[in-house]
Amino acid sequence: MPITMYVDGPRWREHLTAAAAAHPGIVPVAKGNGYGFGVARLARRAEWLGADMLAIGTYAEVDSVRQRFSGDILVMEPWRPFLCDISYDKRVIHTVGRADDLAMLAERDDQPRVLLEGLTSMHRHGFTEETMRELPAAPRGVRVEGHALHLPLGTDQLREVEHWLGLVPSSRRWFVSHLTDAELATLRLMHPDLEFRPRIGTTLWLGDRSFLDVRATVLDAHPVSRGDSLGYRQRSVLRAGTVLVVSGGTAHGVALEAPSPASTARQRAVAVARGGLDATGRALSPFVVAGKQRWFVEPPHMQVSLIFLPAGCAIPRPGDEIEVQVRYTTTTFDHITTI
Ligand SMILES: *Cc1c(COP(=O)(O)O)cnc(C)c1O
Repeated sequence: MPITMYVDGPRWREHLTAAAAAHPGIVPVAKGNGYGFGVARLARRAEWLGADMLAIGTYAEVDSVRQRFSGDILVMEPWRPFLCDISYDKRVIHTVGRADDLAMLAERDDQPRVLLEGLTSMHRHGFTEETMRELPAAPRGVRVEGHALHLPLGTDQLREVEHWLGLVPSSRRWFVSHLTDAELATLRLMHPDLEFRPRIGTTLWLGDRSFLDVRATVLDAHPVSRGDSLGYRQRSVLRAGTVLVVSGGTAHGVALEAPSPASTARQRAVAVARGGLDATGRALSPFVVAGKQRWFVEPPHMQVSLIFLPAGCAIPRPGDEIEVQVRYTTTTFDHITTI
């Protein structure tokens, strides 16, 4: 019961080449659901792009990329002594953000390669300014490949980066996340002696979505009369129409929203209108029929959804594919078809 992502292969590859060229020193990021494509596929694409390094989210992802990508593998989750699937492959670069962790890693006799991450205003991982300042320029027992900064979106990032550059003047290579192109250009101008490596996922893999098309398959269509009850919850339909059974449910991530970052009342209202319930408890589905997003009959099932089409709407037939609007980072596709 497939939900399929169709990729216009030539145009996607054209975009990837252009995006990589526009970001010198790019470290492609492949993690999680691989931005909809899967981590393994992205690893092959990074190899095809000629990247010398691939950043992944967790140690658990090393196995998906190591056979498909021949360059260095930067693990962005911080090394911790309690993680059990750590790979010490010579191609793996560890991210370290605590003095104790650095000391433990340095006890190994194979000189692990590390990035030293600074705790930015994100407050996620990394050495605090004080602990970073106390580190020796070349800590023993590890090979420092550079420093890393993960920055919040849309703030005065330049000032924060400059601050860290000043804290560790000896570092020549900085791995940065979420800087704008203009900020990167400014940094390079200000510090021609330093190497900046932007870690980029979304802009690379999903920067232009016009070459992606996601389709759900119509599995069944049942005419219903006003007052009929249906679904797990046996709610009655308010109008005559058709219940369409389509592929795509919670297992695919359909209608699962990442928590809304909405911070104003208006943004929250928009978020509710898009994915939440209306006053009568109905929810708008991401499935589009005859040019309109349609209502769920009830919350999506694990692999299928029931949606309502009012009388008069052109009814697609079983086997037809319909458009479905998805968030690529939260959707699992049954098939990825390159056209
Ligand atoms: C996920 C991630 C990225 C890539 O983020 P995009 O917004 O997809 O480009 C970069 N750096 C870190 C530390 C990340 O976790």
